[in-house]
Amino acid sequence: MMGSIYACIIKISNIRIFFISQFKLISQAYEVLSDPKKRDLYDQGGEQAIKEGGMSGGGSPMDIFNMFFGGGGRMQRERRGKNVVHQLGVTLEELYNGSTRKLGLQKNVICEKCDGYGGKKGSIEKCSTCKGRGVQVQVQQIGPGMIQQIQSMCSDCQGQGERFNSKDRCKNCNGHKVERKKKILEVHIDKGMKDGQKITFHGEGDQEPGLEPGDVIIVLDLKEHPVFQRKNENLIMKMKIKLVEALCGFKKTVCTLDNRLLLIQSPPGKVIKPNDVKCIHNEGMPVYRHPFEKGLLIVQFEIEFPDKHWLPEHMLPDLERLLPVRDHVMMSDDMEEVDLCEVDYERQKRNYSGEAYDEDEGPRHSGVQCQTQ
Ligand SMILES: [Zn+2]
Ligand SMILES: [Zn+2]
Repeated sequence: MMGSIYACIIKISNIRIFFISQFKLISQAYEVLSDPKKRDLYDQGGEQAIKEGGMSGGGSPMDIFNMFFGGGGRMQRERRGKNVVHQLGVTLEELYNGSTRKLGLQKNVICEKCDGYGGKKGSIEKCSTCKGRGVQVQVQQIGPGMIQQIQSMCSDCQGQGERFNSKDRCKNCNGHKVERKKKILEVHIDKGMKDGQKITFHGEGDQEPGLEPGDVIIVLDLKEHPVFQRKNENLIMKMKIKLVEALCGFKKTVCTLDNRLLLIQSPPGKVIKPNDVKCIHNEGMPVYRHPFEKGLLIVQFEIEFPDKHWLPEHMLPDLERLLPVRDHVMMSDDMEEVDLCEVDYERQKRNYSGEAYDEDEGPRHSGVQCQTQ
C-alpha cells in the first residue's frame, strides 16, 4: 500500500516538507525505524504485521515533527509570555446560583504612544555604555597578580544593546515599550462550577513587543459554608434534633442557597437514630453545564439527648413503661462489679510517664478515680 516506508522517510528528510495527510504515515514509519523489533516485524510481514503487533504509544507524532524541523514546537512555546494565575475566593451561593465577578488586574500593555517601539522611530542608537553588547564587563584586581572579571547586564540599556537618547525616548513608557494599566476582567461563574476550577482568559497576560501574551487563569477558591458542605453534586448538612423529635417525629426548616425555605418533616411513627443519613432529591448542587439537574441534599442527623437528672428519679419508671423492654442480666457470685468512668486519655498518659520519671510531680495515686470498691 505504501510503496516503502523507508523511501518515504528519505524523501521527507530531503525536501523537509510534508503534508498533514502523510503525517500518520510518517509517524508510523518513524516508529518502525526507531524500534528494532518493529523493524524486523515490518521486514517480515509488512504494515499489517505491525498493526496487529500493536502500535504502542511510543514517540508522539510531534516528536518526528521536531526531528525534521529542529524542535519548532518548543520554540513556539518560548515566544509566548507567561501565564498569570489568580485565585478568586467564591461562596457556595455563587457556585449554586452562578455569578459575575469583576476582577481588576494590573498588567503590562504595549505603550500606546510609541506602539511598543520605546521612542521616536529610527532614532534608536547603539548603547555607548556597553557598545551594543548588552553586557558590561568589570575587571577587578583581587590580589597580587590575580584579577577577576565580572559580567553584568548593562543597566543603561537593560541588556538590549541599543537605546534612545533622552530627547527621543518615549515619555509615556520611558523607553520601556510597555506601560502598566488596570484591566477589568469579567469572570463568569457558571452554576455548578467547582472549587479549584480554572477559568482561562486567553491572551490577557502581560503584553511585550514581539511576544504573544500569555493567559490569565482564574482559579476558583471555595470559601467554607456554615451549613453546607459540598461533595461533587451533593450538599451535605448536619441536623441536630432533640430526642423527642427523633422518637415522635418533627418538622424543621432549612434555608437553601437560593434563599428558599424547605420544610423537612419526619412523621410520627418513624424513628431517627444517631448518625442516620437521609436525603432530599434535587436540592443538591446544580450539575455544571446541566444546571436544571441537581444532586442530593444529604442530611446527617445528630440527636441531642437530655442532660442528667432531667427527669425526677421517681418518674423514671413511668418513662420506662413506655420504652421497649430492657434486657435483664442474671447475677452470679463470680461476677466482678466495676465502675463505669469517664475516659481521660490525658490523665492516663500522665500516669504512665509518671512511672518512668516520678520525682517532681508530687504524690501519685494511679487510677485514683477508678478504684475498685
Ligand atoms: Zn548598554
Ligand atoms: Zn512608549
